[in-house]
Amino acid sequence: MGIYMKETLKAQYAELGISDAVLAFGNEILASLEDRFREIDETAEYNQLKVIHAMQECRVSEACLLGTTGYGYNDLGRDTLEKVYAGIFHAEDALVRPQITCGTHALALALMSNLRPGDELLSPVGKPYDTLEEVIGIRESKGSLKEYGISYRQVDLLPDGSFDYNAIRAAIRDRTRLVTIQRSKGYQTRPTLSVTQIGELIRFIKAIRPDVICMVDNCYGEFVETIEPGDVGADMTVGSLIKNPGGGLAPIGGYIAGKRECVENAAYRLTSPGLGKEVGASLGVTSSFYQGLFLAPTVTASALKGAVFAANLFERLGFPVVPNGTESRHDIIQAVTFGKPEGVIAFCQGIQSAASVDSFVTPQPWDMPGYDSEVIMAAGAFVSGSSIELSADGPIKPPFAVYFQGGLTWPHAKLGILKALQSLVTQGIVPDSLLKI
Ligand SMILES: *Cc1c(COP(=O)(O)O)cnc(C)c1O
Repeated sequence: MGIYMKETLKAQYAELGISDAVLAFGNEILASLEDRFREIDETAEYNQLKVIHAMQECRVSEACLLGTTGYGYNDLGRDTLEKVYAGIFHAEDALVRPQITCGTHALALALMSNLRPGDELLSPVGKPYDTLEEVIGIRESKGSLKEYGISYRQVDLLPDGSFDYNAIRAAIRDRTRLVTIQRSKGYQTRPTLSVTQIGELIRFIKAIRPDVICMVDNCYGEFVETIEPGDVGADMTVGSLIKNPGGGLAPIGGYIAGKRECVENAAYRLTSPGLGKEVGASLGVTSSFYQGLFLAPTVTASALKGAVFAANLFERLGFPVVPNGTESRHDIIQAVTFGKPEGVIAFCQGIQSAASVDSFVTPQPWDMPGYDSEVIMAAGAFVSGSSIELSADGPIKPPFAVYFQGGLTWPHAKLGILKALQSLVTQGIVPDSLLKI
């Protein structure tokens, strides 16, 4: 970098409240990450080509970018987009709709439409994501699978994070109809599963019962690797469009990609028996779905770089981080443990102050429905609640960890992490002396 550019950049960071010491410390960490970033860029390059290839194969045309209203019969853009998703996720068919309101809804839909009373659902990877507890009926809830006579079993991962194959074999019974595998650790401490590991698990299950449906909760995992769960035998891959595959542009939506019969079941449940995929106007969102998907590989790469940068920076400062600085990545979430509430609060306030939207807001911990402690959230997003955008949150309880994710561009992710560090330094949680390199 030229001297002039370096000084100009430094001045610009100073305008945004980043001290020379914080910037220099961040840049020192970055200098060691060139190889990691090159790998991330290569994955993005591969996935960019994959997306373009799928769009070309499906003959995406200008007419596809228009929307429909009313019933939405013959919605060319919607039907073609579903073919594109099927191509990318190695599936026979897909359901990609703005009527799927979020990730939880997509997962609930996939489960409720493919399970029948008397069936059993199995999670061989431990407790699923919080919001699914009510879908399944682990926590009593109106309309849960449990209320419809669908039972649930769970096999936890072994202490080292590996699959408990013996217990899984024992848990597969005649009634077992569907196996749900969550790729991302979500807000737990277990490791995120790689697509290859998921493939091994699916092969093991199919060897025991080939007819069992294997579903993967792919939230936060899309485009992090060059393969997706459909490439290793998943019957259904499910996720949210306000995370990775929406590329920050999709304003709502979810997807289910998989076996034709599974997707058909989901479509009949989403709309109505007899109608299925034939209805569902796309209104004005189709072009955002296409363009967001087009951008998703590089947006995911930006978020990944942010996660790797944060891991290395906070690890160097002595805070426990999951994944650690050198581990390979299978989702975009980064956990940093501060050990005290002030650290979580300062971090989230720093992230918020880096936003383009609502940067002037100071987040505070509050009692959120569904959580057993106060939670603080930082989110200054163009799409409300979007977590592919720079965001962080942390429950105010031991071990006082924050979960950080997103960043539509790498420079924004970098700014967010520097602002978080600056906030910790300013509030005296990270002493200045630690920044000496
Ligand atoms: C985000 C997430 C969900 C739920 O998605 P929402 O859009 O928040 O409803 C489910 N599973 C995992 C692993 C997630 O990360």
